[in-house]
Amino acid sequence: MGVHYLGFNFSLDVCQKCGEKGVFDACINCGGNSITRIRRVSGYLEILDYFTSEKKAEVKNRRKNNGIQKLPLVIYVT
Ligand SMILES: [Zn+2]
Repeated sequence: MGVHYLGFNFSLDVCQKCGEKGVFDACINCGGNSITRIRRVSGYLEILDYFTSEKKAEVKNRRKNNGIQKLPLVIYVT
């Protein structure tokens, strides 16, 4: 069997007020809530606001696996 598919997800949030980048609910620099969120659900990175409602629901259902602490990435397992 083995691994048939493996995808690395580099989630990114960008604050529209100050430009801070990272992954956060509210901006860690200015506290702003106007944030562009970039996620990968079906093969490519895309701005979360452009997702269909089904893809947005899938993002909410995914859980983060932060088992690899030394790498700056988040792996989603569905
Ligand atoms: Zn900010």
